[in-house]
Amino acid sequence: MQEVTATENRPVRATGNDKISSSIRAESEDESNNQNPSSIVTSISSLVCRICHTNTVHEALISPCYCKGSLAYVHLSCLERWLNQSSRNYCELCMYQYNAVQTQRYGLIEGIRMWIMHPRNRTHIQSDVLILVLLTIVTVGLIVVCLLGIHYFEIEGEKIGISKNWTKGAIIFFLCIVVVGYLITLYLMIKDQVVPWYQWWKRTLDVRLLLTPSVLDDSINVQRQNRETSV
Ligand SMILES: [Zn+2]
Ligand SMILES: [Zn+2]
Repeated sequence: MQEVTATENRPVRATGNDKISSSIRAESEDESNNQNPSSIVTSISSLVCRICHTNTVHEALISPCYCKGSLAYVHLSCLERWLNQSSRNYCELCMYQYNAVQTQRYGLIEGIRMWIMHPRNRTHIQSDVLILVLLTIVTVGLIVVCLLGIHYFEIEGEKIGISKNWTKGAIIFFLCIVVVGYLITLYLMIKDQVVPWYQWWKRTLDVRLLLTPSVLDDSINVQRQNRETSV
């Protein structure tokens, strides 16, 4: 088919999910304008996978959704990879909901390890840990100085006419602000690290399609047909 050859050399992986989908969608629109019998006959004789645009003998082409024409066929591995990348379990052209099993790709510990190993995340975590260590040292230092020096501050306060209770109250109030400020900063920093990780971990799924017997039968017929046309 003309539209298939036009996109044959498209670097599918490198261009990202959106470009793959727009490429497929564009072909779909062309396809709907091209549904005469002769074009269907042509497409059957040169069936290719709608994602990798090839037709390997090692893997059968399947037609797992309502899509028709040259867009009907796809390799199971290509489709699963595409669904994994886009975190979907339906065909975005005909909206057919695949019968798929979705499992978490990484366990909790492995997910954390994978996240930390990523260079961009590692730099972010390192800088946050450094800030947190410095902030903790400063906060603990302030608390120790205030608690140890409370007696001294009371005496000094009395010299300029401030009662002991007022000095004590002011220091405790100051300490409370320091501690609350520290805890809020700690919470925001942890949230800033944990939330993106959790969202990434939750949406990193492995999608495995469960094929119905009719789809499998169809794929065997397609394989046979392709073998005959290639001879
Ligand atoms: Zn393929
Ligand atoms: Zn479809």
